[in-house]
Amino acid sequence: MDGKDFDVQNEVHAEGILFVISGPSGVGKTSIIRSVLERVERVVFSVSCTTRKQRPGEIHGVDYFFVSHEEFERMIKENKFIEWAKVHDNYYGTPAEMVYDNIRKGLDVILDIDVQGALTVKKNFSGAKFIFIAPPSYEVLRERLKKRGTETEEKIQKRLETAKRELKFIPEFEYLIINEDLEESIRNLMSIIYAERLKFERIKNTSKVKRLMEEVQ
Ligand code: 5GP
Repeated sequence: MDGKDFDVQNEVHAEGILFVISGPSGVGKTSIIRSVLERVERVVFSVSCTTRKQRPGEIHGVDYFFVSHEEFERMIKENKFIEWAKVHDNYYGTPAEMVYDNIRKGLDVILDIDVQGALTVKKNFSGAKFIFIAPPSYEVLRERLKKRGTETEEKIQKRLETAKRELKFIPEFEYLIINEDLEESIRNLMSIIYAERLKFERIKNTSKVKRLMEEVQ
């Protein structure tokens, strides 16, 4: 994050990469990210704080930290978030500490945040990678949200309006995954992670690369 590499037993390693993933709710972000976390080593998920109600099946500390409005506002005042935003009348925020710790340890971190949050990260951090996950069409998104059945009709309408606004921001992102087929989207996200890890600019100061370059001087 601060561009410095980290040191383990006198070996310099590259620090981790921050992957910021956005896309309208119902697009399948959670399923894609979950599979990537299972399949790719050295990548962790940043668990956000939220004031929204816990959905059936969600686990506190795994999917989100579910906190009260008062607690969230206290955390804002204490500067505990890298970014935060109000989405669908609820607060959502990325706790800073875990992100910084993991990146310093050389682990890649995935953020699943809304477009406003992604734009805040883009303004404040260099080196983060921005990936947008989009539905094949607006109509498909409407169907998926209805099928999910976790929201009332009114809430679905609200999420669709938000989705329309969010899709307009696609050009702000470096990568675009159109989630037509889950398995293909998982592979695409994995490819982005692997390719970013291999960028010469990122690894040029690591002990391994330096040794190799010195050998051929
Ligand atoms: P949901 O309520 O469906 O879990 O999430 C609603 C929206 O909030 C999604 O677009 C999700 O990416 C976004 N979100 C989740 N955590 C954060 C966060 O920490 N910060 C921001 N800005 N958005 C978040």
